[in-house]
Amino acid sequence: GVTMAKSKFAYVRDFETDDTCLPHCWVVVRLDGRSFHRFAERHNFAKPNDKRALHLMTRCAQTVMEELEDIVLAYGQSDEYSFVFRRKSNWFKRRASKFMTLVASQFASSYVFYWPEYFEDQPLLYPPGFDGRVVVYPNNQTLKDYLSWRQVDCHINNLYNTVFWALVQQAGLTPVQAQERLKGTVAADKQEILFSEFNINYNNEPLMYKKGTVLIWQKVEEVTTKEVKLPAEIEGQKMKLSQVRARPLALHCDIIGDAFWKEHPEILE
Ligand code: ATP
Ligand code: ATP
Ligand code: MG
Ligand code: MG
Ligand code: MG
Ligand code: MG
Repeated sequence: GVTMAKSKFAYVRDFETDDTCLPHCWVVVRLDGRSFHRFAERHNFAKPNDKRALHLMTRCAQTVMEELEDIVLAYGQSDEYSFVFRRKSNWFKRRASKFMTLVASQFASSYVFYWPEYFEDQPLLYPPGFDGRVVVYPNNQTLKDYLSWRQVDCHINNLYNTVFWALVQQAGLTPVQAQERLKGTVAADKQEILFSEFNINYNNEPLMYKKGTVLIWQKVEEVTTKEVKLPAEIEGQKMKLSQVRARPLALHCDIIGDAFWKEHPEILE
C-alpha cells in the first residue's frame, strides 16, 4: 500500500533476491506429492495403479492450466506433474518463486477440493502437500529430453510395479520375496515373468499407466443451454449455444519420439 512504500521500513524489500528465470528459455515447474507412499497406504490406493488418484491428479493439473497463465503443456505420472510455461512468458516477470508457489498451492487446494468427486467412499484423512521445483531449459531439445526422462521413468516404474504386485497379489509372495525375485532382472525378463506366470501381456496394459498423461490445449466445441431474449412468441425458450473453446485435454501418448512434436508444432512456438 501507499503508506508501506513511503515508510522508513521499506528498505527491507532490498533483501529480496532476484529469481528471474532466464528470458526466452523454457520454464518447467515439477510438483511431487509429499510422502505419497504413506498417503497411498492410508487412503487405500489400489496397487499398482489407483485410477481415481491418477484422474484426480489430472483434474488438478487441468485446473492449474485453466487458472494460471501461459502453461502450454503438462505431463503427469504417479504423484508428480510437470508444467511447461510458454518460452516467452512474462507472467510475474518470470519470477521462479511466483511460478512455483502459485502452481503448488493451486494444485494442492484443487486436490483437496476435488477429492470427494474421485474418492466417493474414501474420506480424506489429512491435508496432503506437494513439493515444487523450477528448472529452466535453454532450448527445445533439452525440454524434449526432460519430458522424455519423465516418461521413461513412468515406464520403468510401471513395469516394475506391475510385476511386483502380480507376485504379491497373485503369487502370494511377500514384498521382500518379490523384491528378491526381481533383483537383477531387465525389462525383457519382467515382461516374460508377467506373460508366462500371470498371462499378462504388458503391451495390453492401459496406456495411462504405461505412458502417463499429457495435457495440451485443444479446441473443443462446447454446447451450453441458455435463456436468451427472443421475440415474444418463443420467449422463455432455452437456446442451445455452441462455442469453440480451448481446453487442456488429456492424452496418453508417446512424447519421446518425433511424431508427437510433429503433430503439435504449436506447442514449441
Ligand atoms: P495479487 O495477486 O497481486 O496478490 P491481490 O488482489 O491479492 O493481488 P494484495 O495486495 O495481496 O492484492 O491484497 C489483498 C487484498 O485482499 C486486499 O487489498 C483486500 O482487498 C483483500 N483482503 C485480504 N484479506 C482480507 C480480509 N481479511 N478482509 C477484507 N479484505 C481482505
Ligand atoms: P517423497 O516425499 O520423497 O516424494 P513419496 O513417498 O511421495 O516420497 P515418491 O517417489 O514420490 O515417494 O513415490 C510416490 C509413491 O506414491 C509411489 O511409490 C506409490 O507408492 C504412491 N502412489 C502415487 N500415486 C499412486 C497411484 N495412482 N496408485 C498407487 N500408488 C500411488
Ligand atoms: Mg521423490
Ligand atoms: Mg512423492
Ligand atoms: Mg513421485
Ligand atoms: Mg495477494
